[in-house]
Amino acid sequence: MSRRILVTSALPYANGAIHLGHLVEYIQTDIWVRFQKMRGHQCWYVCADDTHGTPIMLRAEKEGIKPEDLIARVHTEHSRDFAGFHVAFDNYHSTHSDETRHYAEDIYGKLKAAGLIEVRAIEQHYDPVKQMFLPDRFIKGECPKCGAADQYGDSCEACGAAYAPTELKNPRSAVSGAVPELRSSDHYFFKLSDPRCQEFLRRATREVCKAQPEAVNKLQEWLGAPGENKLTDWDISRDAPYFGFEIPGAPGKYFYVWLDAPIGYMGSFRNLCAKKGIDFDDFWGKDSTAELYHFVGKDILYFHALFWPAELEHAGYRIPSGVFAHGFLTVDGAKMSKSRGTFITAESYLKEGLNPEWLRYYFAAKLNGTMEDIDLNLEDFVARVNSDLVGKYINIASRCAGFISKRFDGKLAAVGSNSIIEEMAAAAEPVAQCFEARDFARAVREIMALADKANAYIATAKPWEIAKQEGQDAALHQVCSEGLAMFRLLTIYLAPVLPQLAQSAARFLGVERFTWADAAQPLPAGHRISDYEHLMQRVDTKQIDALVAANRESLAPAADAHSQQRHAQHQQQAEDKVQAKSAWEPFISIDDFSKVDLRIARIANAEHVEGAEKLLKLTLDLGTETRTVFAGIKSAYDPATLVGRLTVMVANLAPRKMKFGLSEGMVLAASDPDGKSTGLFLLSPDSGAQPGMRVK
Ligand SMILES: [Zn+2]
Repeated sequence: MSRRILVTSALPYANGAIHLGHLVEYIQTDIWVRFQKMRGHQCWYVCADDTHGTPIMLRAEKEGIKPEDLIARVHTEHSRDFAGFHVAFDNYHSTHSDETRHYAEDIYGKLKAAGLIEVRAIEQHYDPVKQMFLPDRFIKGECPKCGAADQYGDSCEACGAAYAPTELKNPRSAVSGAVPELRSSDHYFFKLSDPRCQEFLRRATREVCKAQPEAVNKLQEWLGAPGENKLTDWDISRDAPYFGFEIPGAPGKYFYVWLDAPIGYMGSFRNLCAKKGIDFDDFWGKDSTAELYHFVGKDILYFHALFWPAELEHAGYRIPSGVFAHGFLTVDGAKMSKSRGTFITAESYLKEGLNPEWLRYYFAAKLNGTMEDIDLNLEDFVARVNSDLVGKYINIASRCAGFISKRFDGKLAAVGSNSIIEEMAAAAEPVAQCFEARDFARAVREIMALADKANAYIATAKPWEIAKQEGQDAALHQVCSEGLAMFRLLTIYLAPVLPQLAQSAARFLGVERFTWADAAQPLPAGHRISDYEHLMQRVDTKQIDALVAANRESLAPAADAHSQQRHAQHQQQAEDKVQAKSAWEPFISIDDFSKVDLRIARIANAEHVEGAEKLLKLTLDLGTETRTVFAGIKSAYDPATLVGRLTVMVANLAPRKMKFGLSEGMVLAASDPDGKSTGLFLLSPDSGAQPGMRVK
């Protein structure tokens, strides 16, 4: 029976590039949707750019363009990147749309009528220079727990502590640098703590998360024991200036992300309905019998499993049939890192000429339908793609196709009774069940086990030897036709993962396209195939090296001002070490180097800093001025021995606010690249150098 299924992926924010971490979700969803379509179901896949909010407003302002122009440009970039990885949305819309506005206002109006919206004054940081309230990420200061400088208003990157922006010490606006003031303003809240929401969620959301026991456990934890009320109200408004939709009847107040972005799912689908003549209510209406699934990262599970169903339920819409949460991507076992070159953008992957289906296959081989993180191990990536896809799967076609073309006019022989083909055809349902359950890793394992059997069959039959024997034409025809029948079955099963390759293989096999049901029906005797053209190249390790090099962020101070400031010096050093381990590439140009203004400095004073374990406070004489620099060299030097010495400093490093004061530069010291503490060695110029001289 044909199902009606609507599927979404989370909306990417229109403020940055799509990277491989994002693609875990879109590729995963796309595989599932393609599988459903191959099964003959009516399945729609919609998504949109999440276009509203302060970061977009500020970025557009910085670029001197209108937010509308910024989001239009990013929409084009995102669409290009998704298409490049064969992520085939039925509709890719924008939350800055009439449809999304319509549903945001509609849902808000109904929640308000139901008494689930409350206005409450809250205190927030306000930038008096920029005259705006500051989102948490736009406030920086010292961590209230560990004192690390330059931390964002929501969490500390040095110690991992989470806190409210109001707890930050010495807060500053990241927009203007001004000291923010606490100001009170009216905000609109969705009353998730209302008993009606509690009661409904306890009843309904277990069902929404049933596919993932770990998610059900999380829900239990968030909802608390029966009688306990752990749900809190959600702030759904922001004050002007803001790029978004103004709340009806509330001038100067705008819908914040929770009453805006996810409603983009509905907006995008409505837009598709208009194009295709689909009945919106058949999928979103209260009594819809269609299936609705959201694929999301585990970080937004709370929202999709609690807030969103409560919002939909009380506004008179259906709730999701299921929420499928996945883990995050690590690369080589670590968080993606710009300085290591593992923060890889979709665009750069394609630009470096890597085949998007390699990544689709690798992700599929790792995705098992749970919330575990998945690791892209670059060495394993090369090995797996080459051995599975090229060595096992493609190899079957390349070993059999030539004989059919050259000796049999491109026509296949009838497939006789062959136990391997029968076993492979019988795998259609078990493999389908793995895809259905989003356990793509298991599907891939089963498919590759079948590929092993096909290869063993061909290795035993040796068509290349039969071809040399007189009078063995019928046997050769038979073996090669059977080999291609096996290849065809593998192609059908891999088609959701490798859509482009499946299309090329379909052309080669002389069929228009594959459906899942085709597995039960072999190609008839006499069916003509085309000449075989190689279907997939091997991955060359050099391509991976080039990809990593292309994504490695230069360490020049001009790099990314934010990441420059954010990295504590020791973190930076740790990352530099990892970098030194690989080649010397990427090389920098002389222009890159000349951005670093190195100067001779005389250490006019050096002293201990009370409470600092590693730092010495240095006063550096540059001839024309003096600078204060906090240097992590306490373990190696007695301050008294440093006074009067000459050294080398980075004079144009952006000043950094540290716990103990402002550091206005950096001195250069040598240390063991392996990180084993054999000491620190401050650089000194040859005698005769004078403070202020440039080092080139
Ligand atoms: Zn901290």
